[in-house]
Amino acid sequence: MDPNLFVDPSTAEDFICAICHLVVKDPIVEHIDCYRVFCKPCIEEFSSHTCPHCSSSTLDRLRPMHPKVYSQVYLKLEMKCSLQNCDSTIPLSQYDNHLSSCIHVIVPCSYCDKQIEVIAMEDHHAKDCMRYVIPCIIPGCREKIPRDEMDQHERDYYKHHNQLLLQRIRELEDLQTRSITQQQQRSQSSSDSTDDDSVVNNSKRQRVSVNANKRHPKRLLSASTVNVGSTLPMLMSSKRADTIDYASSDPDSDEAWRM
Ligand SMILES: [Zn+2]
Ligand SMILES: [Zn+2]
Ligand SMILES: [Zn+2]
Ligand SMILES: [Zn+2]
Ligand SMILES: [Zn+2]
Repeated sequence: MDPNLFVDPSTAEDFICAICHLVVKDPIVEHIDCYRVFCKPCIEEFSSHTCPHCSSSTLDRLRPMHPKVYSQVYLKLEMKCSLQNCDSTIPLSQYDNHLSSCIHVIVPCSYCDKQIEVIAMEDHHAKDCMRYVIPCIIPGCREKIPRDEMDQHERDYYKHHNQLLLQRIRELEDLQTRSITQQQQRSQSSSDSTDDDSVVNNSKRQRVSVNANKRHPKRLLSASTVNVGSTLPMLMSSKRADTIDYASSDPDSDEAWRM
């Protein structure tokens, strides 16, 4: 690891391998006589028995780096992400993990092969990627085509698109005609002085409360009396509701409430 990748390169000075001049990487060994650390592969390839740090000829006297120094100091050295545009600082122990998941890592677009940062890929697909497959915007045309072939598709499917658009226009006209008819019917029936919607809603609410209260006849009686009170005037016009005595109806039977 390049010492310049560390937030404060001086903190990494004690961990620079005297053979490769980089910050040591696992597996790490230290020379017993001078406590200097080396990358194990560097020492294994080193031809001399003389320590490049202390010049002692006892370079065979090696041991793994002191565990406490390893875990408390070395693994906690703060590093800067090496990727351009990334401002993250990460402890050395997390560095490889961060690099593999960093949103600034550059990968090839799977459509056009252009090298793009992961974080910018969605935008690239949505706007610039000429090979990204997009759906045809003509309603009813189910074709999906790379962006740079869309013009050709529009030329090739000119007649088909026209048919689809005409069909769509007819559907919209039908819809409009139907909604106008419904509106006319509604305004006609509302002029008959009864608000049908509120009758339906009120009787629905009433039935729900009746069902919920079937197990409690007394509650049914009082609850229904309240509900019926508000619905009654509306029902009277179409049904001879005034002939039914709600308060004295058998509370166990909901026949009287079913209207
Ligand atoms: Zn080394
Ligand atoms: Zn040494
Ligand atoms: Zn990063
Ligand atoms: Zn692309
Ligand atoms: Zn199309």
